[in-house]
Amino acid sequence: MALIELRNIRKRYLTGEQQVEVLHGIDLDIEAGEFLAIMGSSGSGKSTLMHILGCLDQPSDGSYRFAGKSVTGMDHEQLAWLRREMFGFVFQSYHLIGTASAWENVALPAIYAGMPREERKHRAETLLAGLGLQERLENRPNQLSGGQQQRVSIARALMNGGKVILADEPTGALDSASGEAVMAQLQQLAEQGHTVIVITHDAKVAAHADRVVEIHDGNLIGDVRHRNHLAERAHANVEPPVERALPDLGEVRESVVMALRSLRANWMRTVLTLLGIVIGVGAVVVMLAIGEGAKQEVVDRINERGSNLLVIRPDRGQQRVADGVIATLVPEDAEALKKLPNILLAVPEISGSVTARANGKDISTSVQAVSADFPRLRDWRLEAGIFFDDQDLTRYAPVAVIGQTVKRSLFRNSDPLGQFVLLNSIPFQVIGVMSEQGASGRGDDQDDVVILPLTTGTLRLFGQNYLRSITLAVDDITQIDATEKAAVQLLSQRHGKEDVRVFNMASLLDMVSETQNTLTMLLGSIAGISLLVGGIGVMNIMLVSVTERVHEIGIRMATGARRRNILQQFLTESVVVSALGGVVGVLAGVLIGLLLAQLGMAIIFSVPVMVASFVCAAGIGLLFGFAPALKAARLNPVEALSND
Ligand code: ADP
Ligand code: MG
Repeated sequence: MALIELRNIRKRYLTGEQQVEVLHGIDLDIEAGEFLAIMGSSGSGKSTLMHILGCLDQPSDGSYRFAGKSVTGMDHEQLAWLRREMFGFVFQSYHLIGTASAWENVALPAIYAGMPREERKHRAETLLAGLGLQERLENRPNQLSGGQQQRVSIARALMNGGKVILADEPTGALDSASGEAVMAQLQQLAEQGHTVIVITHDAKVAAHADRVVEIHDGNLIGDVRHRNHLAERAHANVEPPVERALPDLGEVRESVVMALRSLRANWMRTVLTLLGIVIGVGAVVVMLAIGEGAKQEVVDRINERGSNLLVIRPDRGQQRVADGVIATLVPEDAEALKKLPNILLAVPEISGSVTARANGKDISTSVQAVSADFPRLRDWRLEAGIFFDDQDLTRYAPVAVIGQTVKRSLFRNSDPLGQFVLLNSIPFQVIGVMSEQGASGRGDDQDDVVILPLTTGTLRLFGQNYLRSITLAVDDITQIDATEKAAVQLLSQRHGKEDVRVFNMASLLDMVSETQNTLTMLLGSIAGISLLVGGIGVMNIMLVSVTERVHEIGIRMATGARRRNILQQFLTESVVVSALGGVVGVLAGVLIGLLLAQLGMAIIFSVPVMVASFVCAAGIGLLFGFAPALKAARLNPVEALSND
């Protein structure tokens, strides 16, 4: 049994509408260990035949058996295995990877055979040294002469063993001396037991071989044996193994290294691609931090005013008495409310503007007539003196507690305690001074106030006892809704109709944080869109990269790369770019956030957001890299190789 058996091999190409047959039924047997030349003029179909022999292309018709196994029925994984383990190619135009050094080019087939890096390097160096290139290991192809490049490609053909060396016009691009040297090397390989098939149009080159087969217009027309070839060797076992579905760790590491190299080779483009992802991820991180910060700020401000408070006000639709006072809530309502369960305090209040006079000065300020629980309700402290108590209320005591602004305006140089202040010409004795409270949530000056006992205020100052509000402090905030309902029910009973409105700080909190969440979502989705745009940028660049590197892909396939290897290589590249962009983006986002925080903006970072946006970026790389990678993996080896 011959090593290679071709029977009635035909190859047709479809050019436009027309089918052209290039090989018209080739029958050829090649024994293991033969040194064979296939000779013919240009265009006779030599390269086409060689591509079929080397499993780079499939015949349109006929049968091809390699060591007794039918090649025609093999899938692309098995064909890749044959190319990787059995064949070694030497091309007229060398087909070396321009960005890789000499030894890396030689070692390429061993990557796909799974040889560890150190061993690979050592073997490549030994092979190159054997061909006199020990000084040129680190040179790139464009730093080598034609003869040297061809020797690199011979070394590459031998890397995985090279049982069958297929050389297509190996001397075609070389001067005669280098050509002679290359032929001598091939002859030596044949003597060492490799099966060597040389394709040439040159009879002088063919004369090196033991056997010369002549091809003319796609037909074999002659077969001359000059010498008997060396004793036939036992056939190698050529059972392609079952491929694992998943790459192992070493393979992944290798493709990351390759990805980093090719990204470095195009660093400007890499940076620009990265930028898209960086901006997207950075935007997500910053935007969500801003949104969260803004929300927390509002929530804090509301909590400051007491989220356990219920403020009851007259319904504006109700009947009014003079001066816009609405005749619904009365002080007795507050007493009744106090008896409801879950209520700590019920503080009635009437307020209005007055002219306050003391020490010969007049100011306009606001008056609040309240019950003695007021400081507890607001959690306000006194700076000096005392607050009025329930007895003062019962006695209609003409006393007042003043705020800091009033104190500064009226009692700049004297102690206000014990002095009298005239409110709309009615005298009240100052018994206490509140400590500084600052501005309210709405921006009002809370210190610009005179506080009176409710009773005294209604009787002497306002002349009526309809309240502006009753503020309830609830004990158990989780029951606040039930308490609110009970309060409204009680007041409706007392008034004979529902004539109040309740402002619930807790529900306000819910509402506000909900609005803020919507805002955060909005910011986040805008940022997410920019991430998506970054992903499309990655896809674009990967497509360009595949198009640019079709030739390289062809070389990798010829040296035995599986489709999976090619797919994985390009996927790795796009994931590496995106993940790198993700890391830089998170860092940039944090940096910008810190900067904004320095400028006084409320910023709350979220680690889950950072992790999620990083994962998202890497995922986008995977997603958008897939189509280009698949395009690369599906390339036809011959077509890819011819794309020079
Ligand atoms: P050789 O290597 O002997 O010079 P080839 O095998 O390269 O010849 O080509 C043989 C014939 O097949 C030529 O006429 C060429 O034009 C044709 N041919 C080769 N490849 C293709 C292709 N991909 N599509 C159409 N025709 C092709
Ligand atoms: Mg050719």
